[in-house]
Amino acid sequence: MTTLSHIPVTELKGVGAALAEKLARVGLETLQDILFHLPLRYQDRTRCVPIGALRPGQDAVVEGVVAGADVLMGRRRSLLVRLSDGTGTLSLRFYHFSTAQKDALKRGTHLRCYGEARPGASGLEIYHPEYRALTDNEPAALEQTLTPIYPSTEGLTQQRLRQLSEQALARLGPHSLPDWLPAAIAREYQLSPLDQALRYLHRPPPDADQEELAEGRHWAQHRLAFEELLTHQLSMQRLRESLRAQHAPPLPKSQQLTRQFLANLGFPPTGAQQRVGAEIAYDLSQSEPMLRLLQGDVGAGKTVVAALAALQALESGYQVALMAPTEILAEQHFISFQRWLAPLGIEVAWLAGKLKGKARTSALAQIAGGTPMVVGTHALFQEEVQFAKLALVIIDEQHRFGVQQRLALRKKGVEGRLCPHQLIMTATPIPRTLAMSAYADLDTSILDELPPGRTPVNTLLIADSRRIEVIERVRSACHEGRQAYWVCTLIEESEELTCQAAESAYEDLSAALGGLHVGLIHGRMKAAEKAAVMAQFKQGQLQLLVATTVIEVGVDVPNASLMIIENPERLGLSQLHQLRGRVGRGSAASHCLLLYHPPLSQLGRQRLGIMRETNDGFIIAEKDLELRGPGEMLGTRQTGLLQFKVADLLRDADLLPAVRDAAQHLLADWPQHVSPLLERWLRHGQQYGQV
Ligand code: ADP
Ligand code: MG
Repeated sequence: MTTLSHIPVTELKGVGAALAEKLARVGLETLQDILFHLPLRYQDRTRCVPIGALRPGQDAVVEGVVAGADVLMGRRRSLLVRLSDGTGTLSLRFYHFSTAQKDALKRGTHLRCYGEARPGASGLEIYHPEYRALTDNEPAALEQTLTPIYPSTEGLTQQRLRQLSEQALARLGPHSLPDWLPAAIAREYQLSPLDQALRYLHRPPPDADQEELAEGRHWAQHRLAFEELLTHQLSMQRLRESLRAQHAPPLPKSQQLTRQFLANLGFPPTGAQQRVGAEIAYDLSQSEPMLRLLQGDVGAGKTVVAALAALQALESGYQVALMAPTEILAEQHFISFQRWLAPLGIEVAWLAGKLKGKARTSALAQIAGGTPMVVGTHALFQEEVQFAKLALVIIDEQHRFGVQQRLALRKKGVEGRLCPHQLIMTATPIPRTLAMSAYADLDTSILDELPPGRTPVNTLLIADSRRIEVIERVRSACHEGRQAYWVCTLIEESEELTCQAAESAYEDLSAALGGLHVGLIHGRMKAAEKAAVMAQFKQGQLQLLVATTVIEVGVDVPNASLMIIENPERLGLSQLHQLRGRVGRGSAASHCLLLYHPPLSQLGRQRLGIMRETNDGFIIAEKDLELRGPGEMLGTRQTGLLQFKVADLLRDADLLPAVRDAAQHLLADWPQHVSPLLERWLRHGQQYGQV
């Protein structure tokens, strides 16, 4: 028997070449595709609502007798038809109508219509309802099921989509559409058979719980969400396997360089740094490429861990690339690594997108020629960057890099043959549930200990009407020898406007704080200017640094103990946490003042309240996820990583542990089910599982 995944839509009645092409454009090529094209919502045309019981905003079928039809001249000519059913009267309003239509709607006509009841000039009205006249001898059958409304595109009507799903449903059965969830798994997690779930969602019975359906909590949706998440999990495992199947240069543990590095470092590594360092050192000694995610809160000391990893590759004579998402952060790393590696006689090269002309050519030549340590921005991913012997790639602040970009790195290994080891570091702690699903291809290490001597940052919410007081606080902190940041947040997604705001804050604050050394840094400045300002701030020549969120990541000035963030309500919690992590790096008590603009929305108050209550990045990340949703937090809208059809990572987070177990089970006992599942769910768009 041919399964529905192999039957093209052209086999359906009414589907010719032109329609097939339209359907293909939205990814509908087979009957299986049609069945997995699920309704967005439903209409209830299974019952007539008495006019007297209609509520504003309700979509409903009503029946009644036309009590009168008038053409109103007002601002726009309209036809107003009054309909009564003994329980009340309703008006049907048409702005576009023909004479024939008007004549057909004469007094005494028995009508059935469907539409949304809205409050209008004459009481409840339905604008342009669907309607038809009923005759006494015509049986007035209502729909037997809720009416599905499908995601559509131009030229594809709902009626057409319904006809197609009707035909596909007629051919749906346990044999025509194999259920790739083995019975044992379905039983264990109480999942209903696939064909039942699909049938239900395309044609829910009149008594279906519409609220559950709307919220995606219905058992039929649950069944499909489980399968979809399972498939995602399997695709990540495949990705991981395909990476693991490659060879990486095994790097023996470093002896010499690590000893020298630690001797010069000035502090002993924390217990967590040692533990994580050992995990990484072991991975690197293997001939399978390392794929490790290092999570650690802001200020946990990830850079030292990165350096330890780098030394292992460097000591074996290989190259290391360290990548950061912004130029400022990359520069900071460049400076740190130069400082650490120069005494060991190791050269460090620099590459960023802004590097042009001769400087660029010479950087590319250095990298191709084998300069051991290379630091830069994602410019390092570019095609023309050729490494001589790349054995380790370190990526800082993972949440901005996508899976695709990670994949691109494989090609940069030794002679395009050996795959480099990868260490991915993130300061945005990813909630466990999400990490399980989104980063199932990575092993995880957690740096769960801050270096000693840190004092937690004290966070306060202050209305911007108290700006003058706040400025005085900056003055006194600076007079005590401390340094401060003044951060201007993003305005209407415009970098230009944001930089202007920072410039004017800089002017105001310079004027208000005469005698203090105030600096300015923002994204529109040249790299050299930014570097110069940062260097001055680091050396204490500047006391106050006015900045945009360019300083979000990585900037490290332990003497800075005060941060003011203007309009913090514009930022995500994790971003605020990153910013706040710039202070509290020394031993002095640190403060972060969130200078908000009242009135705050209830959500705004809730969110900033979380910032005041906790310094724990994991808790903040969890809350941020709850309040904003996962796609936004991971910045995955661009990468398409977490776009699901049925599942919703936040809503279905409690399924993830079961999904993970089920994936293991399936891989072990039913490996032949994996490919059909991937093909069913991921064929269009998301190719990351098919490497
Ligand atoms: P992050 O994890 O946010 O990237 P960094 O690597 O920038 O943190 O480290 C933050 C600061 O802590 C730096 O000034 C670094 O020198 C310092 N640091 C790192 N490890 C230790 C340690 N074991 N003891 C003391 N200070 C440390
Ligand atoms: Mg860092």
